[in-house]
Amino acid sequence: MQILYGFILALITAFLAYRAHSLAKSGAFAATIVGTVVFGVGGWEWTIVLLIFFITSSGLSRAFKKRKQGLDEKFSKGHERDAGQVFGNGGLATLLALFHALYPDSIVVWVGFAASLAAVNADTWATELGVLNPTPPRVIADLRKHVEKGTSGGVSLFGTFASLLGASAVALPAAWFADSWFLFPLITLAGLAGSLFDSLLGATVQAMYYCPTDQKETEKHPFHTCGANTVHIRGWEWLDNDWVNFACSAFGGLVAVLGTLLL
Ligand SMILES: [Zn+2]
Repeated sequence: MQILYGFILALITAFLAYRAHSLAKSGAFAATIVGTVVFGVGGWEWTIVLLIFFITSSGLSRAFKKRKQGLDEKFSKGHERDAGQVFGNGGLATLLALFHALYPDSIVVWVGFAASLAAVNADTWATELGVLNPTPPRVIADLRKHVEKGTSGGVSLFGTFASLLGASAVALPAAWFADSWFLFPLITLAGLAGSLFDSLLGATVQAMYYCPTDQKETEKHPFHTCGANTVHIRGWEWLDNDWVNFACSAFGGLVAVLGTLLL
């Protein structure tokens, strides 16, 4: 029965997000699956943690849309999230919600779930708010080097602070529901670690392309916003932004799970 309620709730939420242009059609379909599993298996507490990520990240993308005009071409996708983005950000959380059905009393599954979402939330907040940093970001793999705003792998003080805030927004209810205040700093730091890992991949092995028409580096492939074909310049070609987001969630989840087991 709860699966059915989950499906109805997820369908309504996904439809509203589609109407608000936060989700593309494929993204709305994917979000319905994610929401059905998370609410259907986990219930309200799991859903609230998921919704905090979903609502704040889509909200921030919209709020700073104007400020980022001209930067959008840097990112491989606009603010209408497609299925790849939804599963890249929430796929691991969905798998962990399924694990909860097998191990309903395991705190480790809850910590992994919350931290995976704290990581992608940290990453989204850093991306959306980081562009407000007054100076250009630096490359995480070489802090002496500055890059243009919006470049994958770029980090700034403002972005890192936004990252911590984004992670704590998920960590707070996660610790509250588990009735363990120790989880608040743990999940917050794990979220930050996941988002820094995301930047590190962006600066090193993530697939990057070049638009010969605009002479700009971009994540977009095969076509740039201008319509020209982009050329692969560095990174592993299979490692697109969606997989980098998935790795971000996995790293955050792993750090928090190890922290729980060790401490
Ligand atoms: Zn172009």
